[in-house]
Amino acid sequence: MVVVLSKNITQADKDRLRSYLSERGFTVREQNFGEDAIIGATGKGIVEAHELALLPGVERVAQTSKPYELASRETQAEDTIVTIGPVKIGGSRISVIAGPCAVESREQIMETAACVRESGAVMLRGGAYKPRSSPYTFQGLGIKGLEYMREAGDAYGMPIVTEVVSTEFADAMKELTQCFQIGARNMQNYELLKKVGAIGKPVLLKRGPSATIEEWLLSAEYLLASGTKDVILCERGIRTFETYTRNTLDISAIPVVKKLSHLPVIVDPSHAVGIRGMVSTVALAAIAAGADGLTVEVHPHPELALSDGPQSLYPEQFEKLMRDIEALAPVVGKELLRTPRSRAESAISVTSPAAPEAATGGAADGGAADGGAASSMVAFSGERGAFAEQALVRAFGEDAPRLAVPSFQAVFDAVLEGKARYGIVPMENSLAGSIHENYDLFIRYPDIAVVGELKLRIVHCLIGSPDSSIEKIRVVRSHPQPFAQCREFLDKHPGWTLEPCGDTGGAVASIVRGGDPTVAAIAGEIAAKIHGGKILKAGIETNPLNYTRFAALARRDGGDADRIPAGLAAGAPNKASIVFSTPNEPGSLFACLQVLSEGGINLSKLESRPIPGKPWRYLFYADVSIPESEDAFHAVMEELKKKTEDFRFLGAYRASL
Ligand code: PEP
Ligand code: MN
Repeated sequence: MVVVLSKNITQADKDRLRSYLSERGFTVREQNFGEDAIIGATGKGIVEAHELALLPGVERVAQTSKPYELASRETQAEDTIVTIGPVKIGGSRISVIAGPCAVESREQIMETAACVRESGAVMLRGGAYKPRSSPYTFQGLGIKGLEYMREAGDAYGMPIVTEVVSTEFADAMKELTQCFQIGARNMQNYELLKKVGAIGKPVLLKRGPSATIEEWLLSAEYLLASGTKDVILCERGIRTFETYTRNTLDISAIPVVKKLSHLPVIVDPSHAVGIRGMVSTVALAAIAAGADGLTVEVHPHPELALSDGPQSLYPEQFEKLMRDIEALAPVVGKELLRTPRSRAESAISVTSPAAPEAATGGAADGGAADGGAASSMVAFSGERGAFAEQALVRAFGEDAPRLAVPSFQAVFDAVLEGKARYGIVPMENSLAGSIHENYDLFIRYPDIAVVGELKLRIVHCLIGSPDSSIEKIRVVRSHPQPFAQCREFLDKHPGWTLEPCGDTGGAVASIVRGGDPTVAAIAGEIAAKIHGGKILKAGIETNPLNYTRFAALARRDGGDADRIPAGLAAGAPNKASIVFSTPNEPGSLFACLQVLSEGGINLSKLESRPIPGKPWRYLFYADVSIPESEDAFHAVMEELKKKTEDFRFLGAYRASL
């Protein structure tokens, strides 16, 4: 049952309402549901809804239509984001958990942790207590195995998740594991669910091989009703008449559960198919279907594995899968989560020639989105719903405090003046080219460094005010970049007048405010949702492979250029941005490029920009790769400096694919 509270409810009325419900046997949970504050009342309590509706401070009482309440989207509209140390699961990120089926020895779990971390896993999995079909097979190392696993997780900066098979072990395990797993065979072991739920730690709940979606969500309800707020659902294949694969992955369960519940849904492709050669294909299908992450079995020597060797990936296969996920993520509007390495972990540190301390592997705490303090603010240009805001959320997380400013220059100013710790600005679009203003701003603000980059897929919509239709449109408002990206669509409507404005979010806000049905805006779907616009046509960009690359920026001297924000990168920087000018003589640019070429450095971008006050002289803005050897990179940069007139190192960071 959901009790919607009146907007002006007093604290005393709220307290009275809570005790009224608790005294009648309900568990109460207060939360926000869209614009409304609600109290979710679950349990076997008895109360007359009409009597409750008369209490002061109650707006209305609604019964949920589902037998599960705490897990239902009807009770909570926003996605739940489960936080486990530096890892978040849910929302706009893809989080990958990897590790062996079972912990077999200290060496084995250490070796596996090292390789899955290197490829980008953010959590370590592994069974210490194994529920095996046969009593004669390896049953796991028990608590000793869990100790090894925790040691490996700590050494490589990954929280661990492990299966609890009995209530008897739960208390000892809670001291070591950061997340419990309830296995498929135990999904309906209600005493276990109650015991583990009451511990309050995050729980990864596998779907039983013969469980319906509703039964699965009811098991999640047991966990939530017993005390934990953090449940991750895991689809791992169900039993069907098909015997070729170990189970049958129920791909459609992903969108179904995401519609029914606010809880994150991940997929275990390993137990679903049971055949190594098919695990990665199925894993990518799960991501395409909207999964929030994966849990994958990886073993350094699968042929020697004590359990599930045939379905365990070799480390190289896992590495390739991670690269494929990174490439696929923007297509489904997500970003692969990378957690920053701890100082102890980051063996390689690339320091920049211009700023000796710059861009080490990042700080252990991530630090980008740590609450509402002004110092952790991230600035973006535009109004709510602008693509820059989406990039910000993707890079810094949903909770990052945001500072909306009116221009790109204001983003640089906000960071320089310390009003924001980071800024985010678009650099180039795959259809319309560079945003020159931002290249010029990096040159004009020498105290600002690039600390990361992020690639966002841009899907444009034609958005009108609530009474508009595509036939009525005469005027279209947007930033000039979207006009360029939607050229083919706009060419089909030669009678429309294009009105350039500062950003897409602002364009939608203004046309909805104006209420004129003949005026539309071009912006993303989110902007329509935020400002109440009506989508007249979606996907109007000329080519669906439409991406914008954003740069994250920070002050050089503020200490923040030292770290790569969480979400933007993990591991050592592999890309740098530099700016230089060359002497006005034949072959001078060639000489610079030759230094890069001979140093084995890949040039991924070269842009020339006019030097203000020096007509017909140019600055070159270049993006270059950082090779494995840091010393070799520095040597090339030193060599390059000798060939240039003016050289500036803008920053080293992790490339977004
Ligand atoms: C596991 O993940 O180790 C496992 C045993 O999976 P499931 O419970 O899905 O069979
Ligand atoms: Mn297994």
